[in-house]
Amino acid sequence: KLIVLGSVNADHVLQVDSFPRPGETVTGHGYKVLPGGKGANQAVAAARLGGEVGFVACVGDDDFGSRMIKAFRDDGMDTRAVMAVPDMPTGVALIQVAANGENSIAIAAEANASLTVEALEQHLEYLGGAGMLLMQLESPIETVELAARTVASAGGKVVLNPAPAQPLSDDLLFNLAMITPNETEAEVLTGVTVSDEDSARQAADILHGKGIETVIITLGAQGAYCSGPDGAQLITGFSVKATDTTAAGDTFNGGLVVALQEGKAMDDAIRFAHAAAAISVTRLGAQTSIPNRGEVEEFLTN
Ligand code: ADP
Repeated sequence: KLIVLGSVNADHVLQVDSFPRPGETVTGHGYKVLPGGKGANQAVAAARLGGEVGFVACVGDDDFGSRMIKAFRDDGMDTRAVMAVPDMPTGVALIQVAANGENSIAIAAEANASLTVEALEQHLEYLGGAGMLLMQLESPIETVELAARTVASAGGKVVLNPAPAQPLSDDLLFNLAMITPNETEAEVLTGVTVSDEDSARQAADILHGKGIETVIITLGAQGAYCSGPDGAQLITGFSVKATDTTAAGDTFNGGLVVALQEGKAMDDAIRFAHAAAAISVTRLGAQTSIPNRGEVEEFLTN
């Protein structure tokens, strides 16, 4: 069983010509409210890509929260551990996208902050049954630490996508079987400025030194550097016309854990994840851009 623990956000997206300066008002267009949050994105990716996924998360007791629970079920997820928090809005991201493609984002945890140690304690038995647990860092860190400890001590594999970047305790790192930082996150965790295969190797060696068996550093359009028990290599991604890279990393992580759960070899699992992520960058939005299994298989045969 695969469990994803993490955040749920409503992404309020507005297109603007240029960002407003302090005190200025600008007129935008194309307002949309799209489902996002790294936890939800990765859980949805894993489910659409063929995984049997249980999701542990908190939403608000608002319209968006109840619509998200329904959407998760429609994607085939087990939502028994998705909690609706009374008198709280669902997590939110206010996103402005400028004409040149740059974005400016303000987020608030809201209901995600209620995924506390106490809330998780109601679901520890469920969590302990995970063969694999995938998490990110948009949830309270004590909760991430408890979940990692619970699954690792029950013999499950803990995978952490350490995003958004923040320094982590040795105790948390020690409970991880696998970590999947991007370049920025790898630098925050190791102090190594990561930009290519050589610097990725240096950063990966530091993370191995913390007790993590497998390190996968994603390098955007360059692909991913993977270092583990079977050796180390750069696995290039697929070249596509990028429309919106939002949730590329999330789609990669969801695809990766599903492929590994199925017993695919690491290099095949990474190619599967690259294909899923490549399709997602050709489409707009977070969860709206995540492909299903059939689309990825067709992409891989072409
Ligand atoms: P994040 O989105 O977390 O910053 P990356 O930018 O490293 O992560 O991208 C994660 C993965 O998404 C990459 O390893 C690759 O598979 C895919 N990807 C990202 N950007 C592109 C791109 N421009 N073209 C093709 N694939 C991409």
